[in-house]
Amino acid sequence: MYDLVVVGHGAAGLSAAIAAAEIAKDSCILVLEHLSEQDGGGNTKWSPANTRMKSVDEMPAGFERDMMATTGGRGDPAYFARLTREAPDTMRWLEKQGVKFESLDYLLSAEHKRIHPVGGGAAIVQSLSSQAKRLGVSILYDARAVRLYLGQEAHGVELADGRRFEARSIVLASGGFEGSPALLREHFGPRGETLRPISPGSGSNAGDGIRMAIEAGASMSGDWSGMHSEPVDPRSDRAAALILIYPYGIVVDTQGNRFFDEGAGLVHDTWERFSRAVHFDTPDSSGWIVSDARLWDLPGTRNAIRTDAPPIQAPTLSELAKAMNVDPKAFAYTVDKYNAACGNDLSGFDPGRLDGLATADGLFPRKSNWARPLEKPPFVAFPVVCGIVYTFGGIATDADARVIGQNGPIERLFAAGEMTGHFYGTAPNSVAVMRSLVFGRIAGQGAAAHF
Ligand SMILES: Cc1cc2nc3c(=O)[nH]c(=O)nc-3n(C[C@H](O)[C@H](O)[C@H](O)COP(=O)(O)OP(=O)(O)OC[C@H]3O[C@@H](n4cnc5c(N)ncnc54)[C@H](O)[C@@H]3O)c2cc1C
Repeated sequence: MYDLVVVGHGAAGLSAAIAAAEIAKDSCILVLEHLSEQDGGGNTKWSPANTRMKSVDEMPAGFERDMMATTGGRGDPAYFARLTREAPDTMRWLEKQGVKFESLDYLLSAEHKRIHPVGGGAAIVQSLSSQAKRLGVSILYDARAVRLYLGQEAHGVELADGRRFEARSIVLASGGFEGSPALLREHFGPRGETLRPISPGSGSNAGDGIRMAIEAGASMSGDWSGMHSEPVDPRSDRAAALILIYPYGIVVDTQGNRFFDEGAGLVHDTWERFSRAVHFDTPDSSGWIVSDARLWDLPGTRNAIRTDAPPIQAPTLSELAKAMNVDPKAFAYTVDKYNAACGNDLSGFDPGRLDGLATADGLFPRKSNWARPLEKPPFVAFPVVCGIVYTFGGIATDADARVIGQNGPIERLFAAGEMTGHFYGTAPNSVAVMRSLVFGRIAGQGAAAHF
């Protein structure tokens, strides 16, 4: 029998395993990972892991309040208070595991500073996995957990191939359900099943841990129709081939019609709504981001275009429409109407803040900021679809990472990361990796108290 079995080899699972091994030196700890050693690492491995901190020592002012505001007041204040308290210590702990952080200018806004690990989330997985092995943690790859048994003395986890492992405590850390077309259709409605995973890691998180825990008595929590999604270039095979310059142009569907207020907010405030609209509100779940030559003068543009496929460029709007395979007449009508609704005084244009440069009344949908006419050739276009990053619906846990059932915390069962339901409405951006690390570590420490 093991002291601890951890399900999942991402940020949350590996943090749990190491934290437990640090406390109980001779303990017997096993990590189960669905994928191979080369592929395992979940969303963490594919993420840049941008983290909303000023430095490893300092949280941004008002962080805890922002978290509650982002969840529309539905989040658990104790959970976010603990996250705020423990993030710096956890990041310093992560540095001791060999991960180095550097600061990062975030997208097109000067207001938002972030740190991120050198080498991104892949460096987190690699450092933590090596450290876990050094501490004597066993890792079993190609091991898909499918069932959870709760017992008085020990709990058990069963794999898809029938093998069963017993442990005093269990930490579940197997990600969300973004890789399950059936669950996406169930919770997001028609077309949910065709959402494109933004990375291979997202494609393999099929909600197993969430289902197993609920079948064993865990309560559900989080926003089950909530997801974090981003606009990506369908031509690219690259993970997170983001195109984030839509506020500085217009977006049309494949019939040449606008369907979204491109200037509703800064990118990180609108990318979920925008990518959802591309998927659910257009005739064929795709569109085009269109701009003109002035795009290249914006500071940070290159940072906001992460596709490896070049834009379509043309000297005239009509040639651009042909290259996009969009009806040139419909496209010309849309651009003419948009251009006519832009003001003449563009001196207030400022890509880094809400500049109030809106289209005139009568244009639908209006563009609320950064409305400049498209007039300077060459014109550019990027195709865009919605990439799903992670889901918000999960199981209930408390601020000690204990899984909550109908009668309160379930003995010796912990969970952390994406599979725990603490997000509502919209994702608090640059917080997902941080909370996986913080609560993974708390889960491991909690489990070790029962060894
Ligand atoms: C492209 C991209 C960009 C992102 N950018 C950021 C960012 O900049 N900042 C940020 O904070 N967050 C970002 N995120 C989100 C963040 O990376 C994740 O939410 C976080 O890393 C999740 O960690 P986790 O440990 O909970 O899950 P994961 O890292 O997904 O790990 C889950 C693990 O469980 C395994 N598993 C799944 N099912 C089973 C099973 N049945 N049995 C055994 N193992 C199983 C998986 O294979 C995986 O290894 C991004 C994500 C992606 C994909």
